[in-house]
Amino acid sequence: MAGLSRSLANAKNYYDVIVVGSGYGGGVAASRLARAGKSVAVLERGREVVTGQFPSRFSDLKNEMQVTGKNMRTGPSSAIYDVRLGADMHVLVGCGLGGGSLVNAGVALRPDKRVFADEIWPGQIAQDGLLDEGYRRAERWLRPQSDPNARNLTKFKALVESGKAIDTAPIAPRVTVSFEENVNPAGITQPACTRCGDCCGGCNVGAKNSVALTYLPDAARHGAELFTHAAVRHISKASDGSWQVYVRRMDANGSVPQDIVIRASVVVLGAGTLGSTEILLRSREQGLRLSDRLGQRFSANGDIIAFGYGAKIPVDAVGIGHPPKIEGVEIGAAVSGQIEIDDENELANELRVQEGVLPSALAPLLPALFIPNGRILGALQSLINGVYKGPFSKLQTFFAVSHDSASGRFVLDDDRLSLVWPTAKNEPVYGRLDSILSAIVQEAGGSYVKNPLSGTIMGHQPATAHPLGGAGIGRERDVGVVNHKGQVFDASAGSASTAVHEGLYVIDGSVIPRSLGVNPLFTITALAERALLHMALDYGFRFDDAAVTGSIVTPADPSACVAQ
Ligand SMILES: Cc1cc2nc3c(=O)[nH]c(=O)nc-3n(C[C@H](O)[C@H](O)[C@H](O)COP(=O)(O)OP(=O)(O)OC[C@H]3O[C@@H](n4cnc5c(N)ncnc54)[C@H](O)[C@@H]3O)c2cc1C
Ligand code: SF4
Repeated sequence: MAGLSRSLANAKNYYDVIVVGSGYGGGVAASRLARAGKSVAVLERGREVVTGQFPSRFSDLKNEMQVTGKNMRTGPSSAIYDVRLGADMHVLVGCGLGGGSLVNAGVALRPDKRVFADEIWPGQIAQDGLLDEGYRRAERWLRPQSDPNARNLTKFKALVESGKAIDTAPIAPRVTVSFEENVNPAGITQPACTRCGDCCGGCNVGAKNSVALTYLPDAARHGAELFTHAAVRHISKASDGSWQVYVRRMDANGSVPQDIVIRASVVVLGAGTLGSTEILLRSREQGLRLSDRLGQRFSANGDIIAFGYGAKIPVDAVGIGHPPKIEGVEIGAAVSGQIEIDDENELANELRVQEGVLPSALAPLLPALFIPNGRILGALQSLINGVYKGPFSKLQTFFAVSHDSASGRFVLDDDRLSLVWPTAKNEPVYGRLDSILSAIVQEAGGSYVKNPLSGTIMGHQPATAHPLGGAGIGRERDVGVVNHKGQVFDASAGSASTAVHEGLYVIDGSVIPRSLGVNPLFTITALAERALLHMALDYGFRFDDAAVTGSIVTPADPSACVAQ
């Protein structure tokens, strides 16, 4: 089945704009710049996965997991889950055309106002009104909504019981999921969500409003060329002022890579917190003058995943996939319910606890995961009954988000990105999360399992799926790496300078210089929309974000919208 992407062998030598990465930041940039009539190339290191081809069986997972540690690397570079094992913290990101949107839960929340009142942000962010416009645009394109059926789901009812421990009733948070069939703003027909629970394995229905079904087909429809297996190594400035992008062709079957150089007037780095920071660190090693703040202010967004095992009530929080592995069960989207703990006096104490669903492809792994914790009998029972009937039907999965001090730091170690944060495990957020999660798990009659993988290579380090920072926004180059528009500070100018490298932008989660306290995709998208509005003002071009009309395509055949 054809998709949106092309082989790098077909790339031209020069584009008006090269967008590196294809998550929320890269997707917004590609769509808006293509709409402005620019020639745009998107370079994505991962592969394209079309609807219906996301992993649904355990045997698929070996090709969908790439794991990198200090002295090890395993799994194909095209795998959609990219796990970075660190001495102080592990990080999970998505890899593929659509970035993290392919495998995330789609929870779309706006942070508390106090987050943007932090003086780390340049004043313009809160003052010029374009952030609100960014959120409005993100809303129109990602269309987050609460599941109208959330309260009838077993896992939501289990969260109601759990929430009694802290006298808090859950709400149904907004997720980027289509609960009814619709034609989306990119002109693609999206079927209604079947509530199969597999969002974090990739939506095989086409109901998740991912970047791959919204901004990217819109970019392609407006003429952008999308290249996969194209990993950018570094960038440099040519003598004529254009940018040279050094790209490694990652062969899908892992054969010898081939490096090429493509030029552009403007480069937008949208390779995510890890990718963009790594490219900039490597570019600095190659001579590009960048802020000393590069790599700093990494935040894990106070994010953890944890479990409650042995609840006395049914939970039904293991995905059944599509087509469904068992009939007659409605699981819900990966997140349907959320407990909100607010604190008017201390922002850092605020937290969000979401009930989550494990994707169906992971289901066979569950007994093995829980055996080392001494639950052999229950696990064997579950093997016999199948995970949908035994004790794993009472397994509670939680995603929790809060605040941390954003004091992690990225460095290049032997040409690989490495995260340094020796005090990460002592961040107060983890103690707060442990005590609240223990209480709500106990209320449902289960025991709190902080990390079922602690007996493995994962160890006891905290892990996050919400990496932020590394190329943070700041007022000037002694504070941040980019300005409020995402333009990269030029360190060849004097200290406290606001001079930027003309035509070089970072637009993704790496620019967020602190924890948000809520899941980040909505804010990353809003800041990206805002950056593009500024870019249009600065360069004097125009684009609109109106929904596409005319030919309508289905998610199974997005190639129909590629400009010929
Ligand atoms: C399992 C999971 C669940 C999540 N759930 C939620 C949720 O419910 N709500 C929420 O708000 N957030 C969630 N997140 C986090 C969210 O998906 C990310 O914050 C978001 O995708 C980051 O957007 P981005 O634009 O910064 O980069 P990404 O979406 O990470 O995209 C970056 C892209 O750049 C590519 N890339 C990287 N390096 C290079 C390179 N050198 N050359 C070319 N391409 C490169 C990557 O392959 C990737 O496709 C979740 C994440 C995971 C992994
Ligand atoms: S629950 Fe299933 S159908 Fe609905 S968005 Fe998630 S993966 Fe897609």
